[in-house]
Amino acid sequence: MERFDVLVRGSGIVGQSLALALSRLGLQVALRPDPVRREGPPDIRAYALNAGSVTLLRSLKVWDALPAHSATPVHDMHIEGDAAGAALEFSAWEARVGELAHIVDAAVLERELASAVRFAPHVTVVNDDDVKAPLTALCEGKASSARDALGVGFEREDYGHRAIAARLTTTQGHRNIARQWFRSPDVLALLPFDTPQPQASYALVWSLPEARARALLAMAPRAFEQALMDATGGAAGALTLTSERAAWPLMRGRASSVSGAGWVLLGDAAHVVHPLAGQGLNLGLADVVALARVIAEREPWRELGDEKLLRRYARQRLAPTWAMGQLTDGLLQLFAHPAPVARELRNRGLTLVNHIPLVKRWLTARALDS
Ligand SMILES: Cc1cc2nc3c(=O)[nH]c(=O)nc-3n(C[C@H](O)[C@H](O)[C@H](O)COP(=O)(O)OP(=O)(O)OC[C@H]3O[C@@H](n4cnc5c(N)ncnc54)[C@H](O)[C@@H]3O)c2cc1C
Repeated sequence: MERFDVLVRGSGIVGQSLALALSRLGLQVALRPDPVRREGPPDIRAYALNAGSVTLLRSLKVWDALPAHSATPVHDMHIEGDAAGAALEFSAWEARVGELAHIVDAAVLERELASAVRFAPHVTVVNDDDVKAPLTALCEGKASSARDALGVGFEREDYGHRAIAARLTTTQGHRNIARQWFRSPDVLALLPFDTPQPQASYALVWSLPEARARALLAMAPRAFEQALMDATGGAAGALTLTSERAAWPLMRGRASSVSGAGWVLLGDAAHVVHPLAGQGLNLGLADVVALARVIAEREPWRELGDEKLLRRYARQRLAPTWAMGQLTDGLLQLFAHPAPVARELRNRGLTLVNHIPLVKRWLTARALDS
């Protein structure tokens, strides 16, 4: 029987990235994909990835292999509140970085990772559950069954909201601007994208209460486009659907522990945040970077499954994942409150932050690297 150093369970973006990162350390990695084949249309989401995620994917030789027009840089970000004139703006120029983020096609990224895994010298895709290794890394997503089998608690709260994703084209160039509207209780984001039309496409993420999301999904395309026009006030031009619409139920979640003797949790199996800040996958990829570094820097005599070693990883990831959960949750609560006082406060707050360069720089730095 083949001998493996690490068993990675779950071959989503986090699991595949981890398998590649560990194989680059010379470790023998077994990658166990989902035994349940989940057939369906390709993922139409586009992810906002920060600089840390791009650096990781570049080091794995995946980033530069992405086909043309599957990743679009974001140079500016406009956020609007739910009162006239309440706005917050971020710019890469102001933050003195090349770009604030990249918007990447989710399905293309997964495909490119799968292709890198096929050619990775130390990664073996395994299809049985008898494979054993000193360390098991669980990257099975928010509903991880192996996490539950370990008896690790997972505190979850369903928001009662769904996020609708779709692809759009616009009559107006996107000028590499990401736009977001906080319209209590909806959060609508238009992420600049270059497919199907370079410089004139968007990826949509629209989070709404369940009933409203269902109504929007049931609408004919023209009625949906009109609803989008009403929500954006035409600021992004006339928008036309170029894909099916798909929706995800939204929740936040946190595992009671992310490491133990012989096991670790990464990605959504460890923490789930609302997509309003586009940070869930960034957190998962930062988990990958942290674990790979802890393993690379371990004392030569330390076993891979050593509980103390894995606790170093857990300690490093505690603060950033907790802070992002609090930030996204706080923003959501603030903008969900219908009372006029809350409305006044949040919109004044947005405008105030826009005028304090120090606070803006701090927020930008947090978003650039989770
Ligand atoms: C609408 C929406 C928009 C988002 N936008 C962004 C964004 O812009 N930026 C960002 O950073 N994040 C974003 N996110 C968050 C992001 O989607 C997740 O954080 C990310 O997909 C988590 O990746 P993962 O690999 O941990 O989990 P998953 O993507 O859930 O992958 C888990 C994998 O494990 C498999 N699996 C499940 N059970 C088993 C098992 N028993 N054995 C083996 N395999 C198993 C699954 O089939 C799957 O392949 C968004 C989320 C939503 C809902």
